[in-house]
Amino acid sequence: MNTTKPIKVGVIGVGHLGQHHVKHFSTLPNTNLVGIFDADSTRRDEISKKYRTENFDSLDKLLKSCDALSIVTPTPLHAEIAEKCILSGKHVFIEKPITKTLAEADRLLSLKQKNGTIIQVGHIERLNPALLALKGFELKPKFIEVQRLAPYTVRGTEVPVVLDLMIHDIDIILSLVNSPVKSIRASGVSIMTNSVDIANARIRFENGTVANLTSSRIAQNKVRKLKFFQRDMYVTIDFLLGLTEVYRAINSDDKDPKALVTAPLDQDGNHRAIVYEKPPVEKVDALRLELTNFIDSIRGKAKPIVDGKAGRDALSVAASIQKMIIEDVR
Ligand code: NAD
Repeated sequence: MNTTKPIKVGVIGVGHLGQHHVKHFSTLPNTNLVGIFDADSTRRDEISKKYRTENFDSLDKLLKSCDALSIVTPTPLHAEIAEKCILSGKHVFIEKPITKTLAEADRLLSLKQKNGTIIQVGHIERLNPALLALKGFELKPKFIEVQRLAPYTVRGTEVPVVLDLMIHDIDIILSLVNSPVKSIRASGVSIMTNSVDIANARIRFENGTVANLTSSRIAQNKVRKLKFFQRDMYVTIDFLLGLTEVYRAINSDDKDPKALVTAPLDQDGNHRAIVYEKPPVEKVDALRLELTNFIDSIRGKAKPIVDGKAGRDALSVAASIQKMIIEDVR
């Protein structure tokens, strides 16, 4: 859409996360927040008053007034609502996961193709400043270890933990490893719900990279940590603390002022230096960055960082993991 006019946006579903979409859209440049719709009239009254935006009593009325919509409803509703929006020629930002099933995601992608609209997916961790801090490094992970743990809440349990939490890490890993998935091993258990609450998966890529992922929605404290190893380099990211640390082994002759220690690291006794770096992590709001990217993409000034295809790819791996867990349990 090549326009200098503000993009007219609406938010569908203004619960825990949707309210933050409303907050950002209400102040983003080049954006006109037209209004909101939520199935819960009390909630939409509250949020429309708080952000001084119109309270629509039907999805169809909101759709007609907008160029673009954020869909922040429970996941099982994403497909039906997004389909409605795309068929009306509207651009959509769909919270992660793109849909509950792969067939639904495929249908949305084919509709988007026909209707020339944008689908962006809310894999917010891709814009986590702790990950963005690695921009200047050449990344070729060989082994990845990731943990995402959260205390139990009913919110999100309409889908298994693989689609709720693990999919964040699947998306990050697919963006780091530029190779097709070769094989997957997975197992999981149900603790509080009838679905999978704790899952572990091991993904092997065709280029030899291995990723080991653990996700749990039954934990005492939140943990969101990713570590990876590649030739002469070790990286740790704490997504919650916003802390990124990089250790590199270099030849001692390559003088680097950041070198910490020099040690006989090679079997032949050669000394090498270890360089420790804490790349600066910008203090930015990842959701605001995502929504800015969405508006810029509609205006033709950028491309979605996580487009519909990336959302579909992450869901495809998540669906394979989930299937394997269910088959393993039987
Ligand atoms: P929530 O339950 O707090 O909010 C959902 C809202 O949708 C509620 O207000 C509900 O009334 C409304 N709703 C239900 N049916 C509706 C319908 N037919 N039409 C309009 N509104 C309807 O849930 P949440 O935690 O905000 O999660 C919403 C989505 O966001 C989920 O897909 C979830 O996976 C995703 N999410 C993403 C992240 C992230 O890190 N990117 C974090 C949390 C949630």
